[in-house]
Amino acid sequence: MTLPLHARFTDEMPGFYVDWQTTPVPAPATLKLNEGMCAQLGLPDLSARALIGLDLAPDAHPVALVYAGHQFGGFSPRLGDGRALLLGEINGPDGALLDVALKGSGPTPFSRGADGKAAIGPVLREYLISEAMHALGIPTTRALAAVGTGEMVMRDTGPVPGAVLVRIAASHIRVGTFQYFAARGELDKVQHLADYAIARHYPECAGNYPAFFAAVAKRQAQLVAQWMLVGFVHGVMNTDNMTISGETIDYGPCAFMEEYAPGTVFSSIDRQGRYAYANQPLILGWNLARFAETLLPLFNADESQAVEQATDMLQQVAADYQEAWLAGMREKLGLDGAEEGDQALADDFLALITGADWTICFRSLSAAIDDPSRLRVHLADDGPLEDWLMRWAARRGVDAAERMDRANPVYIPRNERVESALTAAIAGDMTEFEELLQAISAPYEARKGLERFAIQASAGFGQYRTFCGT
Ligand code: AMP
Ligand code: MG
Repeated sequence: MTLPLHARFTDEMPGFYVDWQTTPVPAPATLKLNEGMCAQLGLPDLSARALIGLDLAPDAHPVALVYAGHQFGGFSPRLGDGRALLLGEINGPDGALLDVALKGSGPTPFSRGADGKAAIGPVLREYLISEAMHALGIPTTRALAAVGTGEMVMRDTGPVPGAVLVRIAASHIRVGTFQYFAARGELDKVQHLADYAIARHYPECAGNYPAFFAAVAKRQAQLVAQWMLVGFVHGVMNTDNMTISGETIDYGPCAFMEEYAPGTVFSSIDRQGRYAYANQPLILGWNLARFAETLLPLFNADESQAVEQATDMLQQVAADYQEAWLAGMREKLGLDGAEEGDQALADDFLALITGADWTICFRSLSAAIDDPSRLRVHLADDGPLEDWLMRWAARRGVDAAERMDRANPVYIPRNERVESALTAAIAGDMTEFEELLQAISAPYEARKGLERFAIQASAGFGQYRTFCGT
């Protein structure tokens, strides 16, 4: 069977892609199939070849998408899918279209000298982390399958087995897609893209470009707030990695923060800490300013009025972010309603847990209602805990424990566990990968036998570093 694909984007958006195909590989073999998702989407049994677009229905229209982007603040006018393909769309459970795309499917006209391939480790890593994000309730692209290619790819560390990730997304339209056409002065294309994105993701904004911008900004602000609440560090918030749909995309050097430190950076290439944990809300605003620039002519024919409108909307971003973050913190702390002192209560808690494990400290709160030592044992130092506990007790809702346990995960993809599962998987043993996946797929439900996924890294694990060249 082949994937039941539509070719709606390619039909409606000529000029936004180049026709392209998966590069044949010697021995495609499915490493991991997301069976739950296949069932939910009503997909037929799919061979490894069908999953990576080597067997396609005759009317399928695979393409490499064009886009630009600011990478670490510098503008690249032409990035595009250098190792990815959009195979087409399938019907989502709610009737909306979902993109089916590949990562690691071979070089394209946008590869800029790189090999267009992906290695098994990063492919399985994206699988794990994107599924964890989904289970945490955070909008994200999903992993449908990881398919081994049977060929080796060259990386800095030497040759490693190659793989292709099959990814499902609400769409692959990025801030960088708008930037590509805006930078070329192709306003008609910017407008066409905006109309398409509105029809697909924000139908309530039809014909109203400022409303469209504000809606995208709000969704992205909510997204980054959710990242912050679980300690997720994306690691490469370039404008080509920010979706218009508001989904997390592009799991490269990302990782979950364990000990809480606002300056946490994992990516080996982020030397200045541009994309550090605590910088993410600021970068959100910066990226949205780049997005607004592409839409200015659509906001208003009068440039100064358009700029004024954009400036007002950009000022709203910080407020939208803060509101989403505080609403999430109220859940994490079990607070009912909204009160003046909530921000300070949350900020003071963060001060207390600085240097301690973010996930464990929050999860211990439900037990700390009756026994504060259940929190205290995890703190790096005692600080003014008594005072905070008193303020918290006075502010807490009646059903705080249950609410907090629904907002504070037990399981996140802890770096030591992820690395260990990937090392085994690369050597051909998927047992640990499956166990970790099981834990993070129901992150709020503590289960017997999975305790090792809920504890801090062993002392010897050291400082965690992630790499982009995936
Ligand atoms: P990313 O850092 O994954 O967002 O990628 C940034 C740009 O580099 C995109 O245009 C990618 O398609 C491209 N790229 C990343 N890795 C490769 C690779 N191995 N081969 C070709 N292009 C790549
Ligand atoms: Mg990218």
